[in-house]
Amino acid sequence: MAQLPEAKLFIDGELRDAAGGRTYDVIGPWTGEPVGKAADATSADVEAAIVAARSAFDNTDWSTNHEKRLDLVKKYRALFEANRDRLSDLAVHEAGAALGAVSRAHVGMALDGWDDYIRVFSQVTWERDYGTRPAFGMNHHRFAVYEPVGVVAAITPWNVPLYVNIGKVVAALLAGCTVILKPAPNTPGMGAIFGELAKEAGFPAGVINVISASDPAEAGEQLVADPRVDLISFTGSTGVGKRIMEKGAATLKRVFLELGGKSAKIVLDDAPNFAMDVAMTMLLFHAGQGCAVQSRLLVPKSRYQEAVAILKQSYAGVGDNWGDITNPEHIMGPVISKRQMERVLGYIELGQKEGATLLHGGKARPDKGGGYFIEPTCFVDVTNDMRIAQEEIFGPVLVVIPFEDDEDAIRITNDSSYGLSGGVSSGDSARAMKIAKRIRTGSMSVNNGMCIAGDIPFGGYKASGIGREWGLEGIEEFLETKMIATTV
Ligand code: NAD
Repeated sequence: MAQLPEAKLFIDGELRDAAGGRTYDVIGPWTGEPVGKAADATSADVEAAIVAARSAFDNTDWSTNHEKRLDLVKKYRALFEANRDRLSDLAVHEAGAALGAVSRAHVGMALDGWDDYIRVFSQVTWERDYGTRPAFGMNHHRFAVYEPVGVVAAITPWNVPLYVNIGKVVAALLAGCTVILKPAPNTPGMGAIFGELAKEAGFPAGVINVISASDPAEAGEQLVADPRVDLISFTGSTGVGKRIMEKGAATLKRVFLELGGKSAKIVLDDAPNFAMDVAMTMLLFHAGQGCAVQSRLLVPKSRYQEAVAILKQSYAGVGDNWGDITNPEHIMGPVISKRQMERVLGYIELGQKEGATLLHGGKARPDKGGGYFIEPTCFVDVTNDMRIAQEEIFGPVLVVIPFEDDEDAIRITNDSSYGLSGGVSSGDSARAMKIAKRIRTGSMSVNNGMCIAGDIPFGGYKASGIGREWGLEGIEEFLETKMIATTV
């Protein structure tokens, strides 16, 4: 198994060990064995990062020099390009991405998103004229200036770490903020590379800082509680998102949250490619560990048995053709950790207790290489009140739910605490569009339209989050509005 370079901290322009030299082992999901080491930050390291980021924001021209920012962000991007192979290695060995998935969400789509941010940067409005208005016998000319919010702490998950890190760090930098990136403990290398390449690009000290730590909560909680941090940009579970909002309240922190999902795909009776629409919901890609995956499949009662037969055949077609680290065709590898594997297996057990029928899979497969492998799994005869239909499993487990008619499909889809993405397929695009508009969700794919890309906003309704990442809106999340008026 590959050994990855040690993940160092990056604070105030310097690559550093943690105070006291503490490190921890990074465990590879394919084998369950260490694949590298990471610096294990202490609270003194977090403090140093906050001081550095605050000082770079308050005492340099970073927040006001748009040209310098754009130049450096472009140079940074070129260095990431030159390190594509290393990024791929990190995606595979830290996050457990299969080779066939790397070129998509893990590295390819992530770097494309960076280019999209650079493109939309030219559309950011930095000033807006509100015209004049009389008051108290004088005319007043009013205009808004849009200014960076300040020090941003970016707290990120392990599932698609490069994509999420870029989503936050690049947008915050372009907006003129300074950043402290805290990656998930499982994927410190995908954070550390932001430090290494920032040093190479020549960013001013303190503009970018990176902190890795073995404890999932401590460093993040310190950032959330500190009054010198202005905004928390968080992607992760809904439970932690709620805690961040609660803990951030003490300092009235601005919080931006990208959280979990339990999105539904509705395949209507008249879908022209019914079999393909049903089959493509098998949760193979990255073993279903995507916040926006469509993990509930809704099919009409009139074609339910047909859908079940399609799925049975499709899963049989996949067979054992997944989980090989050397196979460039594979899009499914292990889940991230032993803990996650146990959690997913717990849901599979629960589904059976709840009375759903296990159509396919359901077992751990340590024989695949010693790591955290779970078979592609599908439950049918699921009702939407079951916990396997309501809770985010974050593994390769699809649940299939029958519906009566369009109203019933809308009702079932919206009967969820989440609202992140979703899809609807129909031969009648007006019918599909009508349904898409009634689903309470942040993005919706009609006839498999791609609604996630770096140039358009992404985010959730309800328990799936607050705010939008990517696109122009993604940069604007990091801006404050200041109104200035002068007498004329
Ligand atoms: P997580 O919530 O456990 O951890 C996310 C990050 O928060 C990690 O860096 C972790 O160290 C940190 N953290 C944990 N406890 C904290 C605390 N008390 N205070 C501050 N920070 C804390 O999530 P995860 O297990 O790493 O990732 C999986 C989850 O992320 C899933 O629920 C998934 O849906 C969600 N996710 C959402 C999106 C999205 O865009 N909506 C994208 C990817 C993942």
